[in-house]
Amino acid sequence: MSSSSSVKIRNIVIIAVIAALIGSFFIFDLGQYLTLDALSARQDALIDYYRDNTLAMLAGFFAVYVVVTALSIPGAAILTLAAGAIFGLWTGLVLVSFASSIGATIAFLISRLLLKDWVQKKFGRRLQTINKGVEKDGAFYLFSLRLVPAFPFFVINLVMGLTPIKTRKFYWVSQLGMLPGTAVYVNAGTQLASIESTSDILSPALIGSFVLLAIFPFIARFIVDFVKNRKMLSQYDKPGSFDYNVVVIGAGSGGLVASYIAAAVKAKVALIERHKMGGDCLNTGCVPSKALLRSAKIASYIRKSEDYGISAQAPEVDFAAVMDRIQSKITMIEPHDSIERYSQLGVDCVTGDARIVDPYRVQVGNQLLTCKNIVVATGGRPFVPPIPGLDSATYYTSDTIWGLRRKPEHLLIVGGGPIGCELSQAFVRLGIKVTQIDRDPRLLPREDDDAAKLVMAALEADGARLILGANAKSVRQGGSAYADSQILTYEQGGEEHEIEFDTLLLAVGRAANSRGFGLEEIGVRIEDNGTLEVNEYLQTSVPNIYACGDVAGPYQFTHVASHQAWYASVNALFGFAKRFKADYRVIPWATFTDPEVARVGLSENEAKAQGIEYEVTRYGIDDLDRAIADGEDHGFVKVLTEPGKDTILGVTIVGYHAADLITEYIAAMKHKIGLNKILGTIHIYPTMSEANKMAAGQWKRAHAPEKLLAWVEKLHTWRRH
Ligand SMILES: Cc1cc2nc3c(=O)[nH]c(=O)nc-3n(C[C@H](O)[C@H](O)[C@H](O)COP(=O)(O)OP(=O)(O)OC[C@H]3O[C@@H](n4cnc5c(N)ncnc54)[C@H](O)[C@@H]3O)c2cc1C
Repeated sequence: MSSSSSVKIRNIVIIAVIAALIGSFFIFDLGQYLTLDALSARQDALIDYYRDNTLAMLAGFFAVYVVVTALSIPGAAILTLAAGAIFGLWTGLVLVSFASSIGATIAFLISRLLLKDWVQKKFGRRLQTINKGVEKDGAFYLFSLRLVPAFPFFVINLVMGLTPIKTRKFYWVSQLGMLPGTAVYVNAGTQLASIESTSDILSPALIGSFVLLAIFPFIARFIVDFVKNRKMLSQYDKPGSFDYNVVVIGAGSGGLVASYIAAAVKAKVALIERHKMGGDCLNTGCVPSKALLRSAKIASYIRKSEDYGISAQAPEVDFAAVMDRIQSKITMIEPHDSIERYSQLGVDCVTGDARIVDPYRVQVGNQLLTCKNIVVATGGRPFVPPIPGLDSATYYTSDTIWGLRRKPEHLLIVGGGPIGCELSQAFVRLGIKVTQIDRDPRLLPREDDDAAKLVMAALEADGARLILGANAKSVRQGGSAYADSQILTYEQGGEEHEIEFDTLLLAVGRAANSRGFGLEEIGVRIEDNGTLEVNEYLQTSVPNIYACGDVAGPYQFTHVASHQAWYASVNALFGFAKRFKADYRVIPWATFTDPEVARVGLSENEAKAQGIEYEVTRYGIDDLDRAIADGEDHGFVKVLTEPGKDTILGVTIVGYHAADLITEYIAAMKHKIGLNKILGTIHIYPTMSEANKMAAGQWKRAHAPEKLLAWVEKLHTWRRH
């Protein structure tokens, strides 16, 4: 029997048992015994019975209480009063406390068994924030809800069963949280004669006290955090006045925006940079890689010029000139990020290596800057893997490759992520022999298989050799094929192989710049992967130090760094009054290979891994008029939607200008616009952007109201006669 059918049978049995029990409760009208009048009328008889049959009465009452609460049958309040009336305060309290907690936990488990998977599957994505909150603070919330008896007991049991809270935690927090309310009810039960209705027990004043008790944990946490923060900072000598409201360390994408925002709201801000303004993106990342890819694209156009009816000779690549062009493009963009521009904007730009002395002081050379807050935007650097022999080998990374002027004869690229793929394609198109090696069985592991496959096919069509599922074992000088030959030994499918090359480029990921400038010394916590531990306000574990960009993670993109920078800067400056949570709901990115791969939201792989139900609509760009006219008729638009709805869960576009095309979907997801609205929007003909509308149209056709259309067809037929 498959596991899903055995789950179904299990659920049917549970539902049948519950239905039978609840049904008998109503059929035999057992509710008549769970009223105040019935209890008052039988109080003496019950007390007599308890005296004569103590154990049986205790056990019987306990069992009834557990069943009533487990089945969420109304009557728990009366039973609690009964416990006071029959057993007295302390015995009643102990009995009810355990019985109600066990009953609540059974109700919680029933809800979990029957509904949790379905609810998480159906609403998983929307529940993500709640799930995270429950995982982190579930006990806290449950405790507060339990303290206020005004919140229906059975609703809390059933709803908590749908969340990821652990059963054991649910039990003990429930027991603790319900104790005061239970005590009040059991105590009231001891005075049963003076109670006319259950609502007498909870006066508004008593409910008010419980509400206060419930919000107490939140107030307590706020106070504890406040005191902890004050205590942490009090060990440092706080200056009487500060030079700056905020000091920003690192003038890359994150630091530039953080300091710009601070200056725009008239704060006094210093921006410290030890190397080049603009950071990685301008000097060694986005800009040079895109400039290089452009030269490569031109070379590839020349090679296929005959497809366009133009004859041209094979391109002659002046490698040094290509690399010089990259520098000239950087020089053209440099003014956007320059000291002059930022000084004019009101930022004090300081050149040098920053060192955090304490949370109020940053040292640069012999300058000591005092500040109320610090924003760390120190970015990342290429990760160099521990491959034996690398120390004595010659290799490049994305930091150093831009200085290369000698054209490599055989370039070996280790790494199959976006940077490795972009550079692999760029160099192979410039006429260099390129081999790309990766330990995964395919390139671009974050993307879906169909997207990665198209990129791999394109790279191979350009002439790159891909060695996949291969582990680099060691590097050594040697070989004779090239003037500067080196050899890499790798293991693939259990066998060792060697490959000879003259230039090695490592592109196996990036490490955060979080150590070595004072953060560890003052107790800023660092994650295992090297990024700084930050909360949703981008605040580190030292309260007046914030972080953004690659050093904070989890994404490593320029647009995310600048997005985070706004939150880091605003929270640092105005957090004393209002703090803003960084919004990561719609994060897009692209790999700028040809075809480009652009993504926003969920991929199919992620949806499957997270158990989220989805529908796929796939439009092939080979069908698009403009793509055909331009000779760029390849790739696809793939949209994941909620089943039966036009709500977009995620989009992957592979193709010409995919990174531009996806903006329409980014806006749609951000502003909660569905495929129907995209379909209802006029797109200029003939453009690549029509691919988005075509995908929406495809979705619409797949969701056409077939039954209604059959009737409409009948109507048309009838009208023709
Ligand atoms: C080859 C390549 C291509 C890329 N392509 C893209 C792309 O197309 N699109 C995209 O979105 N992203 C791309 N990225 C990623 C992007 O470059 C980074 O995500 C972005 O630069 C991160 O910005 P940041 O401000 O966090 O850090 P950085 O830009 O790295 O800036 C950090 C700055 O801090 C300075 N610094 C560090 N420590 C100190 C100190 N102690 N004192 C003073 N200064 C210090 C550094 O010198 C540096 O200038 C690419 C990256 C690479 C390597």
